[in-house]
Amino acid sequence: MLKVLKFGGSSMADASQYAKVKSIVEADPDRRVVVVSAAGKRYSGDHKLTDLLYLCHAHLQYGVSCDSIFQMIFDRYAAIRDTLQLKTDIEGEMKRLREQMDKGISQDELVSRGEYFSAMLMADYLGYDFVDASRWLQFNFDGSVNQKASYAALQQLMSPRGIVIPGFYGIMPDGKIKTFSRGGSDITGALAAAALDADVYENWTDVSGILMADPRIVENPRPIERVTYNELRELSYLGAQVLHELTIFPVREKNIPLNIRNTNCPEHPGTLILGSFDDNDDPAQEDFITGIAGRKDYSVITIAKHGMSSEVGAWRKILEVFEKHNLNVEYAPSGIDNISMVVTTASLTPCLYSILAELEKVMKPDTLKVIDNIAIVAAVGRKMAFRTGVSGKIFAKLGENGINVRTITQGPEELNIIVGVDNKDFSNAIRVLYNSFV
Ligand code: ASP
Repeated sequence: MLKVLKFGGSSMADASQYAKVKSIVEADPDRRVVVVSAAGKRYSGDHKLTDLLYLCHAHLQYGVSCDSIFQMIFDRYAAIRDTLQLKTDIEGEMKRLREQMDKGISQDELVSRGEYFSAMLMADYLGYDFVDASRWLQFNFDGSVNQKASYAALQQLMSPRGIVIPGFYGIMPDGKIKTFSRGGSDITGALAAAALDADVYENWTDVSGILMADPRIVENPRPIERVTYNELRELSYLGAQVLHELTIFPVREKNIPLNIRNTNCPEHPGTLILGSFDDNDDPAQEDFITGIAGRKDYSVITIAKHGMSSEVGAWRKILEVFEKHNLNVEYAPSGIDNISMVVTTASLTPCLYSILAELEKVMKPDTLKVIDNIAIVAAVGRKMAFRTGVSGKIFAKLGENGINVRTITQGPEELNIIVGVDNKDFSNAIRVLYNSFV
């Protein structure tokens, strides 16, 4: 058995968090690969090391001294080293980095040092080997990951003692350091798990899994116990945030379970993410919702024209107008002789009048209407499929609570029911769904 663990910034924030990481790793001999983020915030109002490094780079760009910020970075890592009585030569490493900065350093290389120092310290603390990401995680020139070469390199570097890898960055074909976008250590962990054919990828953070609804809207929402990759994609598309959105692809390809866990509450099983579960066989079960997510501020453009339903090519003509303006159509609920295009208001606003003018021209509609201030709310759940009465129950509850449903979308795979409501009803709709069905 092999488990790959990734610890996020809050798990790496200070020496007491390092101690929690160590006891988690040591609790299971299969936990032999550890991927780490840079030190995160210790308390609200504190700084993330990565943010400080970005700030240092901005100062360098403008020729302004970054000495005090650089000192803060040194102090954070030196304090962890000293409290844990480790031997890592932070002074030497920081001196070398400072010299490089004076000569000129790329932003990616400078900000990657947060993960680099974290991994060196953690390797020292766990007694595992330090494996720099630049030795295995290889990018192609187009910025995609060269999975084949990276996986082969990591397999060579795996040591029986266990290894610690810095997250967030890798190396370009010309030897330069490149980072993922923010939060990218999640992807490094997933790639390491896929490279080593791990039995599980444990992603340790500061919440006990993915919550069933936004905690800013629903008080104390329950964590999701089990979610499929497809459900997670639906939820994260509409705003549920836990993982970097590219995280799941490498583990999904190899069907490696992804388990989100809480470093501050290691006994909690967290959320398990897999391709499928064998759990939707009991139609009497009431728990058909896996999670609820949503976003505000959509606009709906409705094109209505007598006879449109039998006009071959009508949808193409409409969609081409949106495509020409590089506008992503999120949903397209339709009726007989009308179709609505749901787009974000932010993307529509700059080109609204050109779009309307072009739709007039190509479609000659009977009516063309735009409604703003629409929120999209999705109830996501694999157990909804082929279960009768689910949408009826959802609409009944929304109606009973005075929430007017403006649009409805459900795909034939029945993974979700998506409703459009007025922005003002957004939070209430989520609360009603949560309180009625969870
Ligand atoms: N340290 C990086 C960031 O703050 C990457 C990560 O933590 O995943 O975005």
